[in-house]
Amino acid sequence: NQSRVGALFDLYAGVTRSFHYLLKETGTGKKALDYLYARGFSDDIIDTFQLGYAPQDPNWLYDFLKKKGYSSDFLAESGLFSRNDSRYPLFRNRLIIPIASTQGRVIAFGGRLLEGEGPKYLNSPETPIFRKSRTLFGLDKAVKAVRSSGRFFLCEGYMDVMALYQAGIPESLAPLGTSFTQDQANLLKRYADRGILLFDNDDAGQAAAAKSIVLCAKSGIETSIAAVAGGKDPADILEKEGGQALQKLLQYTINSLDYLVEKAMARFSAGTPEGKHRILSDLAPFIEAQDSAVKRDGYLGRLSDMLEVNVTALTADLSQKTTPSR
Ligand code: ATP
Ligand code: MN
Ligand code: MN
Ligand code: MN
Repeated sequence: NQSRVGALFDLYAGVTRSFHYLLKETGTGKKALDYLYARGFSDDIIDTFQLGYAPQDPNWLYDFLKKKGYSSDFLAESGLFSRNDSRYPLFRNRLIIPIASTQGRVIAFGGRLLEGEGPKYLNSPETPIFRKSRTLFGLDKAVKAVRSSGRFFLCEGYMDVMALYQAGIPESLAPLGTSFTQDQANLLKRYADRGILLFDNDDAGQAAAAKSIVLCAKSGIETSIAAVAGGKDPADILEKEGGQALQKLLQYTINSLDYLVEKAMARFSAGTPEGKHRILSDLAPFIEAQDSAVKRDGYLGRLSDMLEVNVTALTADLSQKTTPSR
């Protein structure tokens, strides 16, 4: 339904402009604007990402859009209102982060809680113009730089992407409140062969990093890991230490094999045959994801050195597709 799709693009473009105006030019948006400044974001970033503010008033959005001539039926299916009450806006008193398609058209919003109770982030539901698993936050602004440098930076959150962008690293992307998907990795492979992962310095972030490494490998993307030490995530580093600290972090990356081995060795003893077997089982999805026999062979050679196990034994265990018993 071509005309409905076009109308949705227009609707999201208009609402983005209004939320941005409320953030920057009105008293109601001031606390959201101050919140952004307190986190170290510049006016430049606020404009580039067209950040906005959705007001507390539950009638504002519906009345505003009705006055513009939109029908109640169209608005009910727009993804901007509650499922149960089609006049009640999904985002109230939240900082609004527009999510754009690769072509740069706004197709959804993320909304961050500013105060009070509730989930920290809300995201728009899927609509005819928004497929979560095929969209990456920041890609529209990153795509040119990603193409020319052949690499991207993948982080966890909206704020991290904006922090990196502000620090002069425009090739930054994040999934949308869900974990990174194979579709997203395949999409990225169109633009780049290398990715640097900057996941949060907590258990969830490290687990997500390990999964993303394998998904990237399956798409033929080589990855390395930047250790987000000091702060908890890239946006924290921007806020506490500034943009230069963020750039410095990217100078120290480790390749994904070493990263995964280091992580596995922290859990299992490399000094016993049982431990070696578990470490290999941990690494198996990564090695099996490699599209190239030469790379698999190279990685097994390095594992052989690190674990002091001969390659024949490693290969034999891998071909049994042993699953780890934890
Ligand atoms: P902030 O810096 O604003 O506190 P964050 O990006 O560091 O947020 P994380 O808790 O690290 O937040 O989560 C990473 C990403 O996961 C967020 O950017 C958001 O897209 C998503 N997310 C976090 N909490 C929720 C939630 N309650 N519901 C839906 N998505 C969420
Ligand atoms: Mn502006
Ligand atoms: Mn985070
Ligand atoms: Mn954060």
